[in-house]
Amino acid sequence: MSDPRIAAIPDVHGHAKGEHKPYAEERPIAYSARMLFLWFYHACRRGAPRFLMVSDHTNYLTFEDPAAVNLVRRALKLAEAGDLYGAAETAGVDVAHAAVVSEGLRKGMRFSIGAEVDNDPRARPDAQNIVDAMRPDAIIRSVHFITIEHPEKGPDYQWAFDRPEFVELFDHVGTDRTWQLYVETLFDALDKLPANIVGHFYVPGTFGKWPAVATVEKYENQLLDLCLRRGLAVEINSRFLYRDNPEDQRKKYLDANRRLIRKAKSKGVPIAIGSDAHSPRDQGAGFAQILRLLDEAKVNEVIFPIAGRLARVALRATKEHLERRAAVSVAPLVGSSITGFGRAELAELETHGPRRGRGSRRTAVAARRTKARAPAKRGAKKTARKTKPPRKAQKVRSKAAPRRGTALRRPAKKAARKTSRPGPHAKKPARKAGAKKKAAIKKAVRRPAKATRPVKRHAATKKTAKKKTGRRR
Ligand SMILES: [Zn+2]
Ligand SMILES: [Zn+2]
Repeated sequence: MSDPRIAAIPDVHGHAKGEHKPYAEERPIAYSARMLFLWFYHACRRGAPRFLMVSDHTNYLTFEDPAAVNLVRRALKLAEAGDLYGAAETAGVDVAHAAVVSEGLRKGMRFSIGAEVDNDPRARPDAQNIVDAMRPDAIIRSVHFITIEHPEKGPDYQWAFDRPEFVELFDHVGTDRTWQLYVETLFDALDKLPANIVGHFYVPGTFGKWPAVATVEKYENQLLDLCLRRGLAVEINSRFLYRDNPEDQRKKYLDANRRLIRKAKSKGVPIAIGSDAHSPRDQGAGFAQILRLLDEAKVNEVIFPIAGRLARVALRATKEHLERRAAVSVAPLVGSSITGFGRAELAELETHGPRRGRGSRRTAVAARRTKARAPAKRGAKKTARKTKPPRKAQKVRSKAAPRRGTALRRPAKKAARKTSRPGPHAKKPARKAGAKKKAAIKKAVRRPAKATRPVKRHAATKKTAKKKTGRRR
């Protein structure tokens, strides 16, 4: 991995339930917390992809799945908090596994759990209810079946057109008709059914069956208009690139995806990248080639579903990012009468403005963290206002601000609780000085990691500010 951005590309598409079996042998497979935990463990061991979403097929769904998803989410929380025994016990893994995942999480890796929901006739009729009960971070909507008239089995036959067992039906249906039925089915599903990401749009081309480029282009345009209308992201799927496929087909596939990326960018449709791994070794596979396509189209932001929304992840700090960051050091005119704010309030704005700016690049991880820290914020404000002298208040703020900007959740909270305790002595300078000192120490401990790792400025990797683990990489 030469380009560090490759590891930063979120992989939104993976199947912890394993590789496809022959079509007739596939049966539902229950999730276990262990299975999910280990799926993420492999990424953590590698340090890539840093953002990983698992998204299994609906025909594998079972009643046990939501409980297992719940359990693994709890295990991940314990691992993040450093409770290795708790995490191991909860997920049913070894402490060594929990340690690797814990370190990954502390470095800023993130694991989301979604589902690839399609029109598989083998799926249980209540599949969507089970998916909903999993509280998926995102739903990848895809189509693996089209309804055709089978030469022997008659009408209303559900053809799994991307399965090798049934490839000869292309001769019967024809490539153009196959694509037409495919996009009709897909667009209808996207219009009516729950979805966040459109999965592998070019899947009918799996066996090299492509209609004329103009036709594909027409479908692409329709797809992107639909995405825009429905607020969907479009997935660039790398599976074809790392599977055993002939070079000319690979080129065709790359050309199509290059086009899709370019069009998505110009229309403003968010782009997601998925490896469609069915084995841990394929997580993030083919992303080097995808990155080249992204670079060609000058796409620097892709999405990662987290906490049920599509967060944007910047792969590289751009000039825009850097300028915004540089603006942090420019102090506003304290006491300016234009705003009509008091000095203390201006001091607040001073530390808040830039943070808000950076915030627009944050992923939901950071957002959630800020939320979790909300009490700290309120507490700090209170202290700043009570301890009037504006300059000092300003100092406290500017020290407190970077602390909150960094990642350590628990100590930050604890410290904040202390400063914010609304006791009668709140005005005593001694208390304030103590808190200040503490903040200063904390800052001193944490700051360098951030400064020495400029690459990490993008989105969710802020966590790396936790430098002890960060260094061990
Ligand atoms: Zn699929
Ligand atoms: Zn898939």
